[in-house]
Amino acid sequence: FMDLKTLYRQVIMDHYKNPKNKGLKMTSPYHLVHLTNPSCGDDIQVEIIVENGIVTDVRQDGKGCSICLSSASVMSELLIGKTVEEAKTIINDFYSMVKGEDLDEVKEEELQEAIAYKGVRDFPARIKCATLAWKCVEKAIDEVESNE
Ligand code: ZN
Repeated sequence: FMDLKTLYRQVIMDHYKNPKNKGLKMTSPYHLVHLTNPSCGDDIQVEIIVENGIVTDVRQDGKGCSICLSSASVMSELLIGKTVEEAKTIINDFYSMVKGEDLDEVKEEELQEAIAYKGVRDFPARIKCATLAWKCVEKAIDEVESNE
């Protein structure tokens, strides 16, 4: 019988060991963003494809700690198939959660496995690790929108 913390740790380790959507494709029309977190050594690239307002693909690659890499995997899986507006809401809710805000049940549900990073709020130094890939995808979406 697993408690919530053990469950969350398991989600993080599963995505760290078996990352989803790993490896860049760079097939048009992609948007690629590269960000680093020097304080931990995290280095992440995220590539997205947006077609007709829908995030049709998210790819991620890089190196870093288990929090950062697993979070990139969780993020990619969560955002594929979402509209740009839905993706932006999820990204902002994720930031709110790791910074310590309490989300309502609906928003927590929408975060799916990303809820596993809720505990990061207790470790401020790791917030940058958990959010790095999300900052990449947020910037990539900004680029898509400014090109429209
Ligand atoms: Zn890190």
